[in-house]
Amino acid sequence: MDLNTITEVIRSPSDRPGADWCEGDAWLAGGTWLFSAEQPSLRRLIDLTALRWDPLVPSDKGLEIGATCTIRDLYAFAPPADWTAGGLFATSCEAFLSSFKVWNSATVGGNVCMSLPAGPMITLTVALEAQYELWAPDGSTRIVDALDFVTGDHKNILTPGEILRRIDIPAHALRKRTTHRRFTLTHLGRSTVFLIGTQTPGTSDLLLTVTAGTTRPVRMAFDSMPDAATLQQSIDVIPTDVWFADPNGTPDHRRHLTKHFVEEIRRELMPGSPS
Ligand SMILES: Cc1cc2nc3c(=O)[nH]c(=O)nc-3n(C[C@H](O)[C@H](O)[C@H](O)COP(=O)(O)OP(=O)(O)OC[C@H]3O[C@@H](n4cnc5c(N)ncnc54)[C@H](O)[C@@H]3O)c2cc1C
Repeated sequence: MDLNTITEVIRSPSDRPGADWCEGDAWLAGGTWLFSAEQPSLRRLIDLTALRWDPLVPSDKGLEIGATCTIRDLYAFAPPADWTAGGLFATSCEAFLSSFKVWNSATVGGNVCMSLPAGPMITLTVALEAQYELWAPDGSTRIVDALDFVTGDHKNILTPGEILRRIDIPAHALRKRTTHRRFTLTHLGRSTVFLIGTQTPGTSDLLLTVTAGTTRPVRMAFDSMPDAATLQQSIDVIPTDVWFADPNGTPDHRRHLTKHFVEEIRRELMPGSPS
């Protein structure tokens, strides 16, 4: 839609943008959300895609994802054969409820910064133990765990003018065994719950990430595979107000689905199970 409060669009920001950040500014990435709703408080858009950050940089250390990498580019990425968790890239892109236009323009960073419970790039990067590099307007940089970034529905730790520059996924997480479960009310609908379990090869550990059913990601780490009762208890202790309510599911429905699926994940990643 036309954003008729916008008086200026910065198409060629400096390499380290933000120094002249002021109230009414917004970073523009794919624009799929920014242009989908009225933005009465915004006056100026600053185009991050003009900075031409490398979208995907694989190395021995893992995968660097530039915040402006599109969902389309991530989907097309062919991970090295020993990145056994690489299938989660396509799975998470497919979890996007999106039209052709959204799929081609939406960015990984934009999805994370929107911080919606059903943000599949949040699910992916929290499950794969990513860290985010954030740039502040004063020129400083901070690194945060993906797990700590989203704090609630459409809420995160970004301060005014701060940019998500990069997402770093460590190689050890990319070499894990993985499985996932996702529920949607309709065939191509928004996620009601989206869960990922990962396991270090040759061990019986479990890292379980619970998203979409909760307003922020919840991750649980077990040194060895818990028994069914212990795993169910770990879901029971998630505070009531963390479960999300929207037309895709009530908090009770989401908790019920999560308890069902975590047991399936537990059985699938049980040492000796094929996956
Ligand atoms: C039809 C439709 C379906 C959608 N389906 C989903 C869905 O299933 N799940 C979901 O989570 N979302 C969904 N969305 C919402 C949104 O389109 C996506 O979250 C998308 O990934 C946002 O990315 P973008 O690059 O288009 O962000 P933009 O629209 O450009 O920006 C979104 C917000 O993030 C800020 N921002 C963007 N990049 C950065 C950055 N690097 N640093 C700091 N701030 C930044 C912007 O200033 C803005 O506030 C949907 C939207 C539409 C219109």
